[in-house]
Amino acid sequence: MEFQFKQDVVATLIQELMAIDSPSGYTQNAIAYIENKANAYQLPFMRTHKGNGIIYMPGRNAKTTIGVCAHVDTLGLMVRSIKSNGRLCFTKVGGPILPSLDSEWCKVYTREGKVYSGTIYSTSPAAHVFKDAASKERTEDTMEVILDEKVKSKEEVEKLGIQTGDYICFDPKTTITENGFIKSRFLDDKLSVAIILGIIDFMVENHIQPENNVKFMFSTYEEVGHGMAYIPEDITELLCVDMGCIGQDLNCSEYDVSICAKDSSGPYDYQMTGDLIALAKKHQLQYAVDIYPYYGSDASAALRAGHDIRAALIGPGVFASHGYERSTMEAVDQSMQLVYYYLTNQ
Ligand SMILES: [Zn+2]
Repeated sequence: MEFQFKQDVVATLIQELMAIDSPSGYTQNAIAYIENKANAYQLPFMRTHKGNGIIYMPGRNAKTTIGVCAHVDTLGLMVRSIKSNGRLCFTKVGGPILPSLDSEWCKVYTREGKVYSGTIYSTSPAAHVFKDAASKERTEDTMEVILDEKVKSKEEVEKLGIQTGDYICFDPKTTITENGFIKSRFLDDKLSVAIILGIIDFMVENHIQPENNVKFMFSTYEEVGHGMAYIPEDITELLCVDMGCIGQDLNCSEYDVSICAKDSSGPYDYQMTGDLIALAKKHQLQYAVDIYPYYGSDASAALRAGHDIRAALIGPGVFASHGYERSTMEAVDQSMQLVYYYLTNQ
């Protein structure tokens, strides 16, 4: 069966996923969302010890099991210390582009379950007061979180229940325009999570079985390097769906599905990558083959951890990654088609 793209289904998945804060290490709510989806599709779900989620879909060929993965964890911040003036000093979780966080809204999650709103500022925030308001470098040392609470001292902040190690999540500012532009933080990689859930939705609704057994895996520590370091032993082949790079001499645009031949971790499986390129050609997809200059994926993590698998990396083109990102429904559609035709061997 041909793939049919349903924009409203994907748009809802994107909006719902983005509304759940899930920086690396604080992903339990996002994985619970995926578990609910698996239950709704009546597909088996399991959670690994470190919190990754796996949805299982049996295939026509019961002998082979393949993995398809995307990461549900995102970039974030964590409280490093509370300053004597009641402002918060932070440390990065993953690698957000810090200047892009200037003046962004955020939430602080305490270990007792309280949530406080605030804003991220540079320590020279006012043009009328600080000569270096525009020129000051934006780093962990020159930025801070100011809470929307009347607090002027460390003790007052501590009374709110805020302490070192609390997560600070910044607002993804998710917008999908009527003509299909998707603007949001964390399209890396929740856009791919939405793509995978959208494919499962389509296959379940139309009673389509994949060629091989599939373990759809959602990892929770990709941004810090070890997301898919563990994968189940029966997996022989892993298709990693993660954002495609755009910029400089790269071929990919926000309208394409990107196929990565090599990234910082080295080349991906030659045969599998070649098969995916052939599949994209066969179905006349808008695709690009690229080398990602500063990148490592969950497939790299699985290979580094010693798994004897073939692995490839594809994903929707995402502009301005780790900043305020941008992609399109066209790229989502192209990516869904490539994954779907790969799974169904069409
Ligand atoms: Zn990613």
